[in-house]
Amino acid sequence: MGVVAYAGIPLLTDDGHALGTCCVLDFKKRKWTEDEVEILVELTKAVMTEITLKSTTVRLEKETAAKDELISIAAHELKTPMTSMKAFAQIVQQKLMKKGEYEAVEDLKKIDQQINKVNKLITHLFDNSKKENDSSTSQKISTSINTIIHEVIEEFQSSGIKQTIKLHAAADYLVIADKERIVQVVNNLISNAIKYAPDAKKIDIQIESENTYVKVGITDYGLGIDQSQKNKIFERFYRIKETPLKKVAGMGLGLYISSNIIYNHKGTIGVESEKGNGSTFFFTLPLAGKIS
Ligand code: ADP
Repeated sequence: MGVVAYAGIPLLTDDGHALGTCCVLDFKKRKWTEDEVEILVELTKAVMTEITLKSTTVRLEKETAAKDELISIAAHELKTPMTSMKAFAQIVQQKLMKKGEYEAVEDLKKIDQQINKVNKLITHLFDNSKKENDSSTSQKISTSINTIIHEVIEEFQSSGIKQTIKLHAAADYLVIADKERIVQVVNNLISNAIKYAPDAKKIDIQIESENTYVKVGITDYGLGIDQSQKNKIFERFYRIKETPLKKVAGMGLGLYISSNIIYNHKGTIGVESEKGNGSTFFFTLPLAGKIS
């Protein structure tokens, strides 16, 4: 090839495996200076760092995908027996009711509530797998955000919570959305408003339009959130450790999942809060129409 001068530094992995060389060539006779060799050594190190980083990223991505797949399968497998447990608990409840065994009915209700909790955890785990958050799998149709929120409120109120949830809306707003997913976001935000404000008597929900968006704000009158934690709480598995409340159940996934859903709808999510003075969690969605 007409090469006359050559200098090469081996590309060595940490365990001493040579991947090749990083080399320079010249077509005339020359002596490589100490500086040139030093530059070549540094360049080789930089190339090796880049190669190591790339392979680590690929390995981590594969591991995460495998973990997501495993979680997704496990959650799916758990859902089926939980559904029949719930159905049987309800059948037994009805039988006991007919026999007038009210104390046993109350005990079964507690079992039923615990089943609901496990179901919620399974749903969270399932939703946490990336595949489930993929926007390509969601079914978006034109729907009234007011109706969605109204239905979720009804469900909470009939479950016997002590807070009164009030809805304030100036108009009926239409959005293009995957209804089930938005129900899930509203469910998560209201559940948190109850969990982290156990002594409060009310929760206010405001729906309003802001330019080309509809904005939903869920206000509770509870713990509030310190400025330094406002962004972190949307991270996967993040929970605030310093809390005056003891043993609030959760996995730090609700807000992470909610934010993914909202981003998949091209909206935004956030919180306005002051520690000790309650919080307003809000999300926005592109507005598709408005009925005043
Ligand atoms: P989880 O409630 O399961 O821990 P989330 O992702 O829903 O998970 O919330 C993350 C954390 O953010 C919670 O652990 C809690 O510390 C804080 N948080 C969420 N909602 C509220 C709220 N309405 N008021 C105060 N803190 C909240």
